[in-house]
Amino acid sequence: MTHAVEEAKQGAKQTLSNLIQEAQKLSGLQIERLPIKGYEQVVKASHPKSGLTAIIAIHDTTLGPALGGIRIQPYETFDAALEDVLRLSKGMTYKSAISDVGFGGGKSVIIADPKKDKTPELLMAFGAAVESLGGQYICAEDVGCTTEDVKIVRRATKYVVGLPHEKSSGDPGPFTAWGTFRGIQASVKKLYGSDSLEGKIVAVQGLGNVGAVLCEYLFWEGADLILSDIDENKAKRLAVKYGARTVSVDQILKVDCDVLAPCALGAIINDQTIPHFRCRAIAGSANNQLHRDHHANVLDEKGILYAPDFVINAGGLLNVSAELEETGYLPSWPREKAHRIYDTLLAIYEIAEKNRESTHNAALALADYRIKYRIGKRVFPPIFHHSTEN
Ligand code: NAD
Repeated sequence: MTHAVEEAKQGAKQTLSNLIQEAQKLSGLQIERLPIKGYEQVVKASHPKSGLTAIIAIHDTTLGPALGGIRIQPYETFDAALEDVLRLSKGMTYKSAISDVGFGGGKSVIIADPKKDKTPELLMAFGAAVESLGGQYICAEDVGCTTEDVKIVRRATKYVVGLPHEKSSGDPGPFTAWGTFRGIQASVKKLYGSDSLEGKIVAVQGLGNVGAVLCEYLFWEGADLILSDIDENKAKRLAVKYGARTVSVDQILKVDCDVLAPCALGAIINDQTIPHFRCRAIAGSANNQLHRDHHANVLDEKGILYAPDFVINAGGLLNVSAELEETGYLPSWPREKAHRIYDTLLAIYEIAEKNRESTHNAALALADYRIKYRIGKRVFPPIFHHSTEN
């Protein structure tokens, strides 16, 4: 290494260690505990100097430290933010328990406009709040929060995943897509007795990081695709590539198909959409697909098989959590686990049928059972492989 490079690295280290000290000494950070029934810890973090108002919710750490993203959104009220973080952190508990990753459920929200309010001071103040929880909550990027933002949060806390470094996990999209693909195979197996997708019609709503890769997997297994995205050019481009048909964003939920794969938005299963569904199964990657839990029962009554979202879309969580293993990230580990989403879903379908309950309720009950009997509880603490430079 040349002298100049060495000097530059030393300089960068120096700046960063100054920043860490700065964050640790951060004055004016206020942490207030909010007593919420059914949650282990919920804290409100405020830092008037940087404009930070955030909530960190740790729902359950029975199986391991709580892992969950940082959502940055300009919520209209504090209560709206609180409701969101409580719902999301609880969802993470179930997703982690079912996925056997040895983590619990947590989430954080920063009440801010990601387009204009994000400053290094605000993100570092948030990092200091995460640090104050001593590793009970590990954060990652989420809606409104980029890898660059997480890098700044990292200056104030080590309890972060998803940073770019040699033992890091990288893009979760293909892993989520693979888990979703396996979930579609399991759903088809349940419906038709064989998991072959040859000639099966799959309608994909949303062709982003997950949806586009999912189309690739489905195409090579012989599925006929119907595609939709608000970005019509994207939909047309993929339609040409896979010999698919495109439909409008309004039509995609109403098409006749074997499987509808929602890969864009939450709450697409609701009172307005259900009467129009003409699919045999709903199996996609989108988070929080059910507007309300009881909509799973309505689907059941209509004879539509539903793949619970927190089971089928766990590939991304499997991927990111793999980097906290002692070896650092090995892609074969989350690949193997995402592959097994097929078996988990088939088991859930069987339980639901036997107990005459919705697949959503069966999945929740399975997660509760794993938590109650500590199945998959973490034995070794997570290892953070990032250095002070990332
Ligand atoms: P993305 O932002 O890359 O893609 C979403 C796509 O949906 C975009 O192409 C967007 O144009 C399109 N879209 C938005 N509104 C639409 C509408 N009304 N109709 C049709 N298309 C619309 O997101 P992603 O990473 O591909 O994730 C997709 C879904 O899966 C999200 O709900 C996300 O929360 C969930 N999810 C993603 C991951 C992951 O690893 N990326 C993991 C778990 C869950």
